[in-house]
Amino acid sequence: MSDYPVLRPEPRADVGGERLRQGGCSCGAVRFTLRGEPLVVGICHCTECRKATGAVAMAYADWARDAFTTTGEVRTHRGRSFCPACGSRVFHLAERDGTVEILLGALDEAPGDLRPTREGWIIRREPWLAPIAGAGQFDRDPA
Ligand SMILES: [Zn+2]
Ligand SMILES: [Zn+2]
Repeated sequence: MSDYPVLRPEPRADVGGERLRQGGCSCGAVRFTLRGEPLVVGICHCTECRKATGAVAMAYADWARDAFTTTGEVRTHRGRSFCPACGSRVFHLAERDGTVEILLGALDEAPGDLRPTREGWIIRREPWLAPIAGAGQFDRDPA
């Protein structure tokens, strides 16, 4: 458990009027900024996402690669980058489709305003987790 304060930074906009969101690792050495709205927001319950996060499900949002900037040194394993000082997952640059995936918990704003619209691998969902109302439900990867 942590004693992090509740963070509600004012929504910021860049010169083009697009929304800016910021995030980073738990020690502050790695920071990133995302411009505009994500392409997709979802939850994945698959074994790989569970193991890679150590959480029972992974909440993520994907942006176009050119909407993303970052500072600080990272190490990367199978595309997943993390802070070498504190071990926090920070982002995943997907080579195949030119996107960057952010775990929602890495964003500064908490609680945030991004809501999952799809849930994948619900065959692995813990029985005490309820489906997200209105989100598409997929037994395995979302179509
Ligand atoms: Zn760190
Ligand atoms: Zn997954």
